[in-house]
Amino acid sequence: MELDKMDENDWKYHGEGNKSLVVSHIQHSRVLRLLKYPSEDAENTHQTTEQAFQHILNIFEYSRNVMKPLLGEKYVHSGEVVKLPLDFVRQLSLKIQQERPELRCDKVMDTFSGCGLCLPNLTHLSPCHFGDRRPPLCVEIKPKCGFLPFSRHVTKDCKRKVCRFCMHQHFKLANGKWNRLSRYCPLDLFSGSKQRMYVAIMNLLEEPQNNLKIFKGGELIYSCKDDAKQQPDLDELVQHLWPYFHHGNGHQSSTTVLSEFIQLICSALLSTGDSNRSGEQRKVQLAESRVLCEASPLHRDLLRNGGPGLPKDCVLAKILQTQMMDNLDIEGLYPLYKRVEQYLEEFPKERNRLQMDGPYDAGFLEKVKTCPAEDDRSIEYAVGKVLQYRVAMTAKDCSIMITFAPCGEDEKLQPHLEIQPTKSRFASSVSILDLDPKPYESIPHQHKLDTKIVNYYLMSKHATQ
Ligand code: ATP
Ligand code: ZN
Ligand code: MG
Ligand code: MG
Repeated sequence: MELDKMDENDWKYHGEGNKSLVVSHIQHSRVLRLLKYPSEDAENTHQTTEQAFQHILNIFEYSRNVMKPLLGEKYVHSGEVVKLPLDFVRQLSLKIQQERPELRCDKVMDTFSGCGLCLPNLTHLSPCHFGDRRPPLCVEIKPKCGFLPFSRHVTKDCKRKVCRFCMHQHFKLANGKWNRLSRYCPLDLFSGSKQRMYVAIMNLLEEPQNNLKIFKGGELIYSCKDDAKQQPDLDELVQHLWPYFHHGNGHQSSTTVLSEFIQLICSALLSTGDSNRSGEQRKVQLAESRVLCEASPLHRDLLRNGGPGLPKDCVLAKILQTQMMDNLDIEGLYPLYKRVEQYLEEFPKERNRLQMDGPYDAGFLEKVKTCPAEDDRSIEYAVGKVLQYRVAMTAKDCSIMITFAPCGEDEKLQPHLEIQPTKSRFASSVSILDLDPKPYESIPHQHKLDTKIVNYYLMSKHATQ
């Protein structure tokens, strides 16, 4: 990619979240990730180019130097920082505007700095058979927090019984963010139990909200509808999936197609890369009290024995372990945040030495890893816990991308075989994306939000009892 010869016609709209907008190259397997700003800020308070560059560099370094070592080298692709011609960025912004979903248009793409990230397009995976024309399938899951807080600082009993995601659903419904409750519960997905994971993914399919997207050949084919009142069409999804899951001459029912698809996703989420040693893998297992959410729609019997735990190096275990660096809960962390604030007020120059806002280098990771286990009243302890909390927040907000390339053409070469040896075969690749640093300044907001969500939940439960 030659940065001085960028042409907006080589790029198309790919997707966006709350903080960034992504365009993909029409030929090469690359995407550009550009930042967004609230539209009212765009003119008056836009950053200098230098500040914007530093911001992008921070995102890149945090992903490469902090999250990648914690989550595993093989899952994280940090890409590279690029400086794009302003003319290109402006043309691009105009070109893609009409394709953006309405609910995202409260923010505008940064067209001032020209800074962005160039990343591999994770919705692609080269086919493993040249004869196979079926494009790759890609499932993106934003799993959210997979455990119940175990901190002694937690004051409300319901936080030990109902997970944050399930409580937050009620709050979001009341605030009009969504029109229907999602039955997805992250604790089911992270349980390691095939049955519970199956139900979790089925619930994501039924109500994807912003937790599930499906791509085929790099194109989005399934996600929440822009018109939130409409439900996405599962039959349409089955039509897309059918060519990947039909075997021999037999016709599969929709249920079988969906069921095989879900099982494929489950095995990718549990895979550790070394397929032959699956029998004696070490497991990451949580105490039973931490893995059962009372709001999960699953039957009690299924939940009773917690779950088999997660294979040690699978993507879910890596994410869960990083999320669990938040071991004080926001209620235990907030007083430490205030200790840091007071200290910085007295010694403002210490902010740099303590790396409160970066640089996100090996020294930062060291501070995260070597924080004392017990509170020795030191500033180092308070800072260490704050940094750990921020790292955990990133892991609670990331997405998993699972890409499948079919390699089943062999079956067609053996039409005489009535019973196929394997039903469907795919090469798969698993990555983690959206690993931006969460700002230190957002901690008071997190504290307030936690109180609001819990109080709303308690109130609504009380009202219905
Ligand atoms: P959030 O609101 O979840 O924090 P965000 O604004 O930080 O999101 P991303 O999640 O990084 O933005 O990107 C938005 C979307 O773009 C993703 O949900 C994903 O569908 C797509 N995307 C991002 N990076 C890539 C990539 N490397 N390859 C393919 N698609 C990508
Ligand atoms: Zn739950
Ligand atoms: Mg995202
Ligand atoms: Mg993000």
